[in-house]
Amino acid sequence: MNEEETLLDICSISKEQIIFRVLCAKNYLEQVLSYDVDIFPFYKGLMDYLKEKCPHKIINDSIDTTPEKTTTIRYCSYCYLRETDILDFSNVSSVS
Ligand SMILES: [Zn+2]
Repeated sequence: MNEEETLLDICSISKEQIIFRVLCAKNYLEQVLSYDVDIFPFYKGLMDYLKEKCPHKIINDSIDTTPEKTTTIRYCSYCYLRETDILDFSNVSSVS
């Protein structure tokens, strides 16, 4: 093994698999965020990673905010971040 090789170089894990695992880690941390605020920096780090690295695919969805009112939200179907949270990054492809 070359000393400059990273773990990523020697295993055949794809970029999409990495993003998926980061998403899983974010979802796990979400379950315990309310129990310990010290977890938040790790959670935010994973969010920032997804914002930058996910190949975002924005879709529209309707949610009922009241029995009479429906609101349309736009979010990434891969990482579930809202479009408004990922607008800073330019790799967004919209399918609306
Ligand atoms: Zn995304």
